[in-house]
Amino acid sequence: MTIINVTLPFGVIKDISDYSRFINKILKYDISFNILKFSTGSSGINLLLDIPEGKIKTITESLKKNNIIVNKKGRVIIDDDKCIDCGACISLCPTDALHFNSEDRLEFSYEKCIGCLLCLDSCPRYAIEEM
Ligand code: SF4
Ligand code: SF4
Repeated sequence: MTIINVTLPFGVIKDISDYSRFINKILKYDISFNILKFSTGSSGINLLLDIPEGKIKTITESLKKNNIIVNKKGRVIIDDDKCIDCGACISLCPTDALHFNSEDRLEFSYEKCIGCLLCLDSCPRYAIEEM
């Protein structure tokens, strides 16, 4: 399974029946997936979806065709000057983009980050910033 971060713009989602329609659009591909996070942002409803790795292309194309925004990867940066390597952010990261290296220093793997922002508020030093 792999995780994607999507936004259902308010113009697309007007009420709860639209939300069901969106889910059914994915389910018609007979795909099982998990919704890891559901939140409302300034531009729409944000969903963190855990989907089968082999179906990423099919699902993202279907979402884009239906005006759903598939958010770009790599949406945080770590300020190394502020980070004290406490590790508080690590357990929140669903993709292992945040981890310790062999010297117990925080390491950020940009290519693994899906921009879910779950880590953003975890840092006591405000070292994690949204890009
Ligand atoms: S935004 Fe933070 S928690 Fe989410 S994948 Fe990127 S590093 Fe991990
Ligand atoms: S929570 Fe902040 S200070 Fe702690 S390891 Fe993560 S980025 Fe560094």
